[in-house]
Amino acid sequence: MLPLWFILLTLAVFFFMEGVAWWTHRYIMHGPLGWDWHRDHHQPHDKPFEKNDLYGVVGSVVGFGLFLTAWLTGLWWVYAVATGVTLYGAVYAFVHDGLVHQRWPWNWMPKNGYARRLVQAHKLHHAVQTREGAVSFGFVFAPNPQRLNAILKARRAERAEKLDKA
Ligand SMILES: [Zn+2]
Ligand SMILES: [Zn+2]
Repeated sequence: MLPLWFILLTLAVFFFMEGVAWWTHRYIMHGPLGWDWHRDHHQPHDKPFEKNDLYGVVGSVVGFGLFLTAWLTGLWWVYAVATGVTLYGAVYAFVHDGLVHQRWPWNWMPKNGYARRLVQAHKLHHAVQTREGAVSFGFVFAPNPQRLNAILKARRAERAEKLDKA
């Protein structure tokens, strides 16, 4: 009985975490509170580490804390939550730091399929270097890149129009 519930809850937490990551990225990291840590991730530099990596550290601490809580309480569902959160962190690191930003030591860039779409969608997130005006805040589920491009184009046109009027 237990393993199936365990797997289902772990998967549910994994999907829920994409929502949490989206919200955090959109309203904390691109908000007045968290932009200070996230800024250098949106600006060109040649340093191996970014202040933005602190968000990864925070995530790891949360994951570790959840496993510790599970171990202390012995509750199976806390183990499932801890596993879902940690699994999301691992997939996030693989997609975001590996696939998209190529921080791993080899050169592998997907040419097609969903992995390619993930890379394109996040590259479009980086098309904007400022706190406001960015698109595509998720990491593991990618919106259609053509649609994202259209939104970015419309925003650019809107800004140009405003400047014209000013
Ligand atoms: Zn961002
Ligand atoms: Zn990025």
